[in-house]
Amino acid sequence: MAIRSPIRVLPPEVTRLIAAGEVISRPLDVVRELIDNALDAGATRIEIELEDGGLGLIRVRDNGVGIPADDVPLAPQRHSTSKLDSVEGVDQIGTLGFRGEALWSIAWAGNLTLVTRPPAQVGALCLSAQGEERHLSRVTAPAGTSVTVRRLFSRLPARLRTQQPQASEVREITGLVGRYALHYPALHWKLVSNGEVRLQHARSDARGAVASVYGPLVANRLLSVRSEHISGVVSRPELTRPRRDRMHLAVNGRPVVFPAELQKAVIAGYAELLPAGQAPLCVLDLHLPAEDVNPNVHPAKAEVALAELSRLADLVRDAVREALSTHPLARTAPALR
Ligand code: ADP
Ligand code: MG
Repeated sequence: MAIRSPIRVLPPEVTRLIAAGEVISRPLDVVRELIDNALDAGATRIEIELEDGGLGLIRVRDNGVGIPADDVPLAPQRHSTSKLDSVEGVDQIGTLGFRGEALWSIAWAGNLTLVTRPPAQVGALCLSAQGEERHLSRVTAPAGTSVTVRRLFSRLPARLRTQQPQASEVREITGLVGRYALHYPALHWKLVSNGEVRLQHARSDARGAVASVYGPLVANRLLSVRSEHISGVVSRPELTRPRRDRMHLAVNGRPVVFPAELQKAVIAGYAELLPAGQAPLCVLDLHLPAEDVNPNVHPAKAEVALAELSRLADLVRDAVREALSTHPLARTAPALR
């Protein structure tokens, strides 16, 4: 039998590293948190740069509202946020961030440098943070915020050793940024990895974003979906895939894992137009009252809990069916008459 050691309270250094490692487990988590911050800041241009799959460097630059000079030292403090100020607010999240943990966790997981300037402020501030260490200086910089993370997981060697190969991480980050571009097509997006442009999208609409991510041939085969709570595009029935990897959902602006029940509802909307086992491409945005959506069920906020999922599934199916009713094949399909 193992020899039991006495129970001890962990030193703060250790609990901080553990907590930070839960929020940030891979480069993709950093990218998502920093994009969320840029979107919450109202940016119209978001540029992401990676070196060595994000382990060497991750930089996200935006042209959003910036952080006022007095607030800069607070930004990477734990549980410090400008987005939530009451218990009631926890149940009505309207922003992508709300826990005030991302920058703090990133400062523990790697070396953080934040340069920020609100448009009306003259100079910019540069804050570097490593663990609890902080250093503040004045710099010149364009309006907006740029966050750079270097040497991710250098304090967590086990985490570093268990990362997947860099090429796979870059592929998944490219997929993530693509999903954001699909749901935020009115913004400029750019992703560069080791000097190579992986994704570029210039302000347009959903079709334009599909063109940027999947190419113009795909973008030419789309139908618009528009109903009270749902907007987006679905592919014409001739554009099908054996996998559901091009089905994208955002709920109140947050790209999320597409719940299987809602994926099935989309497919049901095609009825016989879709061969069995095939999936369409779709980019759907659900617009729901904040109190019907709980983004606080998953550490990476990748999943949301939705109220009345089966009623929502009916709405999705009907919206897709309606979009397809304009398609010539639909008139001959019995299920759609
Ligand atoms: P959260 O997003 O949950 O509030 P973060 O740790 O991600 O927590 O950020 C802390 C705070 O720093 C935010 O509430 C916001 O006020 C500020 N901030 C972070 N990133 C940006 C950004 N890109 N532009 C403007 N403000 C930012
Ligand atoms: Mg955040």
